[in-house]
Parts: sequence; structure tokens; C-alpha cells
Amino acid sequence: MPEARISFLGTGAGNCIHRAHTAIVLDCPDGTRLLLDAGSGNSVLRNGAMLGFYAEDFEHVLLSHRHGDHMGGLPHIQGRRTQIAPDADPLVVHSLEESLVGLQSLFRAVSITHRVDQDSVTTTEGNRVVAWDPVEVGQWITLGGDTRASCFPVDHIGGAAGWRVETGGLTIVFSGDTRYSESLVEASQGADVLIHEALGTDDDREGAARRGHCTAAEAARAAARCGAGQLIITHIDTPFHLNTEVLAAEARTCYDGPVSVADDLCITTVSSH
Ligand SMILES: [Zn+2]
Ligand SMILES: [Zn+2]
Repeated sequence: MPEARISFLGTGAGNCIHRAHTAIVLDCPDGTRLLLDAGSGNSVLRNGAMLGFYAEDFEHVLLSHRHGDHMGGLPHIQGRRTQIAPDADPLVVHSLEESLVGLQSLFRAVSITHRVDQDSVTTTEGNRVVAWDPVEVGQWITLGGDTRASCFPVDHIGGAAGWRVETGGLTIVFSGDTRYSESLVEASQGADVLIHEALGTDDDREGAARRGHCTAAEAARAAARCGAGQLIITHIDTPFHLNTEVLAAEARTCYDGPVSVADDLCITTVSSH
């Protein structure tokens, strides 16, 4: 029975003081490994090592958007990867053009010796260590023998997207950061797993929306409307770190399926029936 494994390296909102920033490893049934967002600082390196993931193990990054809590870790992942495996194929970062432009600016700002252009990042020895893959909304990209992905726009900042991954008969959707999004509902139909952000509860729905995010109830409404098999809530802010049941309970009022709230270093498996 095909099985996918979802490992959460970071589940915290941008200002969260308890959790690492957003990064998820998706191990697909065909052996393809995807990194969904890259956290910030060394959190992917540090939390990854705790679960047995190392920088050189990553080949594909599906990036949701250009906020620092989602892409800030990439120069460090590249740096460690280049140190360990300088001749490896480049790390391929797939994203909408607008997000890649932001990421290229980050690499240019921090790079000491590497050359950063619109195609790739190259070392002084001439090794391409990162390749940019600008994608269009709705374009399917093949990532493995039986794994493909496509992104859809969400309501957060310019160029923000969520990702739908289809692998071994399973569909896994990652919202990235977003307010309640009709385009997410449309693109997530029939998902086995919906990994959706929620910054808080409906008590402060306007505050969440002002910051470009949604509530647990809104995430659950999206899960219900796309017929998701289960909802995993992530991007947890400080007040809910030790109180995630409040988020799950609110979500359960809007969605009948299984609801869980991700924690750093937690692993979930999902299999097709
Ligand atoms: Zn974020
Ligand atoms: Zn964001």
C-alpha cells in the first residue's frame, strides 16, 4: 500500500517564540523527497538532523512565498549541501517567479563568493549549486517517477502560492500562508491531506486577516469544501503553542474529518486505501 511520510521540521508562525519556522519534508511513495518551504536560519539543518535528514538529501524545494520565515533557511541549506556534496546536482527551487526574484535577492545579499543570476547560483569553482525553476499557476511539474506537483495562488502577499502534490495515488496539499482562499479550495479538491495554516481563532479573525492569515475555523471550512481526508493545522503563533487544542476544537466545529495540529519534529504517515 503506497505510503507518504510527512515530517514537520518547523511549525511556527513568523513571530512565534517557541517553534521553528515553516518547513516540511514530504517523502513520497516512489522515493521522491520534497522540502515544502525552508524555514529560516539553520532550523532545517538542525531539526532535520534530529530526524535523519541532511542538506545533501534534498533535491527539490517547493517554495510557497518570499517571506523570511519560509525561505530564509535556503542559503544555509545550500551552504551545508555544497560543503558536503560540492559536485551534487543543483538544489532545484520551484516557485512562482515573483517569489524566486525575492529569493534571488536574498542570495545576492548574503553571498560572499557565489554568483547569483536568474538561472542559478554558481560557486567560484563553477558548480551550479542552486537552480531556479519558475513555474506558472496550474503548471504540472514532474518530480519523480510517480510524483508531480502544481501550485495555485493564495491570498497573502504577491507571488504567494500553495502546492498540490500527487504521488502514488495520494494527494497532499500545502496552503503556504494565506487568508481563506477560494483558489485553494478549487485546487485542493479530493486531497487526502490538507496541511493548512491558521494563525489563531475566530475570536480575532480580523487580526489574522490583517496579517494575511486565517483562523482555524477558516482552515477547516476550506478542508470541508475541498472534501479533504484530513486536516493538519500548522503555522502556530505563540499564544497557541501549548494550547493547540483550542485550534483543533474550533476546526472540528466546521469540518467532520480528522483534525490535528502539527508540532516541530512530528511525523505523520498517510496511505492510500
Ligand atoms: Zn509564515
Ligand atoms: Zn508569509
